[in-house]
Amino acid sequence: MTNTFLSQLVDLLGNDVVQTEAAEIEPWLSDWRGVYKGQAQALVRPLTTQQVSDCLRLCNEHKVPVVPRGGNTGLCGGATPDGSSANVILSLDRMNTVRSIDTIANTLVADAGCILGNLRRAAHEADRLLPLSLAAEDSSQIGGNIATNAGGVNVLRYGMARELVLGIEAVLPNGDIYNGLQTLRKDNTGYDLKQLLIGSEGTLGVITGVALRLHAPMHVRSVVLAAVDSPKQALELLRLVFGACGPRLQAFEFFTDECLDLVLAHVDGVQLPFDQRHPAYVLIELADTANEEALQTLLEDVIGRALEQELCQDAAVSASMAQLQALWRLREEISEAQRSDGPHLKHDISLPIERIPEFIDSAELRLRTVANDCRLFIFGHFGDGNLHYNVSRPLHAEKTWAHEWEERIADLVFAEVASYGGSISAEHGIGQLKRRSFHEHKDPLQIRLMEQIKKVFDPNGIMNPGKLL
Ligand SMILES: Cc1cc2nc3c(=O)[nH]c(=O)nc-3n(C[C@H](O)[C@H](O)[C@H](O)COP(=O)(O)OP(=O)(O)OC[C@H]3O[C@@H](n4cnc5c(N)ncnc54)[C@H](O)[C@@H]3O)c2cc1C
Repeated sequence: MTNTFLSQLVDLLGNDVVQTEAAEIEPWLSDWRGVYKGQAQALVRPLTTQQVSDCLRLCNEHKVPVVPRGGNTGLCGGATPDGSSANVILSLDRMNTVRSIDTIANTLVADAGCILGNLRRAAHEADRLLPLSLAAEDSSQIGGNIATNAGGVNVLRYGMARELVLGIEAVLPNGDIYNGLQTLRKDNTGYDLKQLLIGSEGTLGVITGVALRLHAPMHVRSVVLAAVDSPKQALELLRLVFGACGPRLQAFEFFTDECLDLVLAHVDGVQLPFDQRHPAYVLIELADTANEEALQTLLEDVIGRALEQELCQDAAVSASMAQLQALWRLREEISEAQRSDGPHLKHDISLPIERIPEFIDSAELRLRTVANDCRLFIFGHFGDGNLHYNVSRPLHAEKTWAHEWEERIADLVFAEVASYGGSISAEHGIGQLKRRSFHEHKDPLQIRLMEQIKKVFDPNGIMNPGKLL
């Protein structure tokens, strides 16, 4: 049956679109971190929505599992096939055209395979801002960003990916094309079905096009790196900065001195702008449409007050774009530095923001009772209550440590998160990584409703099996 299926697939879409040689498929079988590896019988790289539709219709008829693939930067193994050799990987990478940009309605419509960074640059050239921004933006695709409801560094001001989506075009598992690619701001005609596709991690259909909301360009930016003695101090600093800067506050990122150690050890050309080290750092960005001097004065004023009120220990304000970028690198290179350091356990969590300091203390206490000498790397989008609470092997341990401790540590961290009323996945999704914990921590009623929705969209269960549900 599989062979019949494969030859029909090739007949339908052609050799250019369907690749079946093991050597061609091999590079598509693992995730960015190299943690997951699966199997597949074919890689399909369509050029049009109609080809996606033809592919899904045939897969559905043959009950062949389909794994949608964006830029493969997801950190939960969502775009990696499972161990079944029946899988078809469907990559959107060749569907990468900007369909339109409207600078009156402030919208951008694009194919789902467009790289996020390219869309940000296209918006910039049209004197607009696409505010979705993350360290993986030059590899991740907008379809993947929407399928994971990505967050990133500007959520504080503009919200998650969901808040930027006006419309979606998607292909359902039976091949039907969901034509929801509208740019209307207002449309109260029944259930908002696109919301189900946003964050569905490829389990309901394949997103082929997106209509996004653009914002005014932020021509002036200013950044300060503030050294803090504790997460509690960072919290007080956030209170002050938000009160003083309001909507100009574009990012409020946090990282500990241990994260800085990693970056300094593994990344070339980075430098701390302080004479001495501190327990943690906060990177604050302000941005505005105009008036650089006023923005700089505002930032210097608020940081001056923070130093006076002892809400930070030291501060370095960027005086040029090069300095601004150098400060950002200290934060943005943490994930890459961790990858170089070796296997580690990622916990992308969110918490009621005012409880972050308490959580950090109590989680570490609990963690140390079971894995005393593990290394903790805590960083993230502090202003959104989102921490990347990452745990690495003790320096003397084998690289297999992460694999051996994965479940015990995840159970411990997520139990602690739950006790604070937090979420076990802030922005990375569930994928394969958090499936077990998701079922343990999510309200059973909500899981049941999700399973029913999945059946409506995908009665044969072909979409991304083994992920999320
Ligand atoms: C260095 C680094 C930094 C990161 N920083 C952040 C961050 O700040 N914030 C954040 O939210 N994430 C971050 N991530 C995670 C990742 O970049 C995001 O999850 C991103 O949105 C994934 O997009 P992608 O195109 O790479 O998707 P993939 O990894 O290819 O896929 C992710 C999931 O979406 C599904 N999918 C992909 N494309 C489609 C489609 N067209 N239709 C339907 N389903 C699809 C896949 O099946 C899979 O389940 C980071 C990752 C790295 C490596």
